[in-house]
Amino acid sequence: MPTTLGYAEPFDEELAGDLFPSKVGGKPRWLDPTCPLPADQVLCDECAKPMPMLLQLSAPEDEPAEAFHRMIYVFACRNGACHRTDVKRCMRVMRAQLAEKNAIYREQACDHSAGTSSIDDIKWVLAEHVKPAPLCAVCGLLGNKACSKCDTRLYCSRSHQMEDWNTGHSQGCPSYKAPGKDSLDNGQRLRHLLYPECVIVSEEEPLYGKDDEDGDGDIDGDDEGSNSGEGVEQESTSEALTKTGEDLEDLEVDVDEAFMAFQQRVQRSPDQIIRYARSPDSDEVDKPLFVSNTDHPQIDTDIPRCEQCGTSRQFEFQIMPQMLNHLLLDTADPASIDWGTLLVYSCPKNCTDGIHNQAGTLTYTPEIVWRQNFSSHRARLRDASI
Ligand SMILES: [Zn+2]
Ligand SMILES: [Zn+2]
Ligand SMILES: [Zn+2]
Ligand SMILES: [Zn+2]
Repeated sequence: MPTTLGYAEPFDEELAGDLFPSKVGGKPRWLDPTCPLPADQVLCDECAKPMPMLLQLSAPEDEPAEAFHRMIYVFACRNGACHRTDVKRCMRVMRAQLAEKNAIYREQACDHSAGTSSIDDIKWVLAEHVKPAPLCAVCGLLGNKACSKCDTRLYCSRSHQMEDWNTGHSQGCPSYKAPGKDSLDNGQRLRHLLYPECVIVSEEEPLYGKDDEDGDGDIDGDDEGSNSGEGVEQESTSEALTKTGEDLEDLEVDVDEAFMAFQQRVQRSPDQIIRYARSPDSDEVDKPLFVSNTDHPQIDTDIPRCEQCGTSRQFEFQIMPQMLNHLLLDTADPASIDWGTLLVYSCPKNCTDGIHNQAGTLTYTPEIVWRQNFSSHRARLRDASI
């Protein structure tokens, strides 16, 4: 079964109108806009601030019927220092689902005369009566607190209210001092609190890399293989990953086999930011592509069973180190956010117990993220200033 890869592409108009987007960064687009996630479910355990959304992935499934619309949200603290700890403290994964027949969306009639109809032809629109819930002006989580002066600008938390006040709303608040204008527009001045937004497009993984057409796994030396000059320390992770096995051997460091295999596999398509392991056509699930021989998670201990239905969680997708290149992080800062790969495990039954609360509104089911760092060999490689 081929793995599906996700790539980042610039945010565009099409994404702006997509009700079920797969995207990196920006504010979340909620599967049920009447039920955004409240901040208390995504507070960083280290700094206690609400975590911005790292990505959301539209991953619908056939079973059960309630997984017809299915969205996985991943949140990650923006503060690099918080990532020096257990990843479960500074990142969170939430699953949200809706059945095909629901009160939120309705199918829009569309013209099928041009050819065969498929699920992709169906156009969904928000039902007329749906009234989206108020959102935090900063991060897009549920905005259930208001500016105490104007009472109109909404926030998820006191920390985002203060952030907004200190970076501009004190100038723009209509009820405070002389009414003025925000010195900078919101998008600009609050940008550092969110991850940059881009679309995730998906494609099947190619069987071979460009330099490996015979498929024997041997990669011929590439043009950039003779990196010996300055500036290499600052190369991006994806550039580092395109180095060939020969380059690594030249370094005479003991690189672990998992990393070599990882690097060769990634070579087939070096820009991948997501590897998605499930397929609607198959019960088989791809294994994670580990970056190292160490830190493999133990199912049922490191990856606890689904709290709702008791089923062992299964690997669903992984976030690749190339994603870091799209987050505009300060790579010169040694405390910047970093990972080898992030593995997301979820309930394979897409269980729906507890998916609605007593009021009948959608709730979010927490799933599990596991981080694997590059091995110490890899770290040494990085420090070796090739
Ligand atoms: Zn934090
Ligand atoms: Zn917020
Ligand atoms: Zn105000
Ligand atoms: Zn479950």
